[in-house]
Amino acid sequence: MQNYIDGELKAPVSEKYFDNYDPSRGKVYSQIPQSGKDDVEQAYVAAKKAFPSWSNMPKEERSKILVRLSSLIEQNLDRLAEAESLDNGKPLWLAKKVDIPRAVANFQFFATAILHFASESHSMEDRGVNYTLREPIGVVGCISPWNLPLYLFSWKVAPALASGNTVVAKPSEITPMTAYLLSELCIEAGIPKGVFNIIHGTGPDVGAAIVEHPGIKAISFTGGTKTGEYIARTAAPMFKKLSLELGGKNPTIVFADCDFENTVNATATAAFSNQGQICLCGSRLFVQKDIYDQFKEAFVKRVQTLNVGPPMQDSSKIGAVVSKPHMEKVLSYIELAKEEGGSILTGGEQVKLDGEFSDGYYINPTVIEGLSFDCRTNQEEIFGPVVTIMPFETEEEVLMMANSTEYGLAASVWTENLKKAHRVARNLDSGIVWLNSWLVRDLRTPFGGVKNSGVGREGGFEALKFFTEAKNVCIQY
Ligand code: NDP
Repeated sequence: MQNYIDGELKAPVSEKYFDNYDPSRGKVYSQIPQSGKDDVEQAYVAAKKAFPSWSNMPKEERSKILVRLSSLIEQNLDRLAEAESLDNGKPLWLAKKVDIPRAVANFQFFATAILHFASESHSMEDRGVNYTLREPIGVVGCISPWNLPLYLFSWKVAPALASGNTVVAKPSEITPMTAYLLSELCIEAGIPKGVFNIIHGTGPDVGAAIVEHPGIKAISFTGGTKTGEYIARTAAPMFKKLSLELGGKNPTIVFADCDFENTVNATATAAFSNQGQICLCGSRLFVQKDIYDQFKEAFVKRVQTLNVGPPMQDSSKIGAVVSKPHMEKVLSYIELAKEEGGSILTGGEQVKLDGEFSDGYYINPTVIEGLSFDCRTNQEEIFGPVVTIMPFETEEEVLMMANSTEYGLAASVWTENLKKAHRVARNLDSGIVWLNSWLVRDLRTPFGGVKNSGVGREGGFEALKFFTEAKNVCIQY
């Protein structure tokens, strides 16, 4: 892989590379540029130079270029999906169905959203009028995680570019391949030189250089809460604009009056999609006592049908987790759960596949019961194929348990009682609530968390507002 700076593919200044692993086989398969401060500086200089012409370009023109990029991603869907699956370990069918189509949609959505993004005017009757300009910020930084690599990378970069900023971006070093392939498509799409720059390397080297750069005026970050804390601490004295999308420990609340079969299937999907490595996955399953035993049995049965296998096989519902350290982290949480008194209802161990996949990082989808709501397993983010199941009696009790963590990203509620559904949604400490559904997305809606799950909202005009500064102009008649 190479960096993408000033419209060209470039080797890192260090001329050093490090290993990129295929998690399905546990083998090195490519080399990542070991970039640092100097590469970020080159990208910044290019982005700064490109800013005046990109931000002054009529938005219709900018839109056309980004739509072209979206079409190129679509034309390369199979190739990009294969690369995503190989780099991340996720099932190929999932990358084809979700990850890459969403990257197509992200560019398409923001390329056209900018054409409808209007600013306000405030009339003061016969005294005068105010109008608000929304101007791009300048050079902005985008830093994204490994779980939905191109999906989340494009979710940040697309609104940043559409609103007229130039970008220095860093994908996760753990899954950089599709961002690299995107840089090739950017050249083909005719993105003007310097408008979009992609630097590969580690968080402490490249990510920190972006965050610490005094000329980069806004940072959009998705990743862990600890990293978010560091970014907030570093950026605050420079008064940078910050959008932080951080961790989650999302509750799934199942009432006795739910649509039973649909709820069993959908909550299993909510727990284990993408090997449980989605910030929105429901990892704490609360089930009302009246149906607890019956639900538990059906849920475990359902989970046991989720076949763990090589990512490229259509029959694999669960692929590999992203890396060896991550697999070890998830397995250590399963051990912790046992120490805390949990019993494993299904899964609970690493899976050894045969042949070329024998060194891959596979974990059986795991369901744990018998834990208290406030133990570490139920409070800390595991971010893997592990769900805990707990009974509750009343609405008040489940709200107390659901709201007990430091996180507040997403929740889902399952009941056929309309009033109860809306009441519970209102009382959850959560940025996003799904009723009788999970991960149904409309790109116009505000996306983000409360408490330690983040600061700010992405999506729709919220993202375009984040990537612009409001300037009020007032004239007295
Ligand atoms: P990390 O916080 O480890 O990394 C996220 C990104 O930040 C990566 O590109 C990483 O680089 C980079 N980074 C790491 N250290 C620094 C630093 N000191 N300065 C600047 N950048 C840095 O998160 P993960 O990649 O492990 O992602 C998983 C986390 O992301 C989970 O907590 C998950 O909940 C959260 N997430 C939140 C979402 C949301 O919308 N709220 C959505 C998806 C995930 P590198 O990897 O190269 O080291």
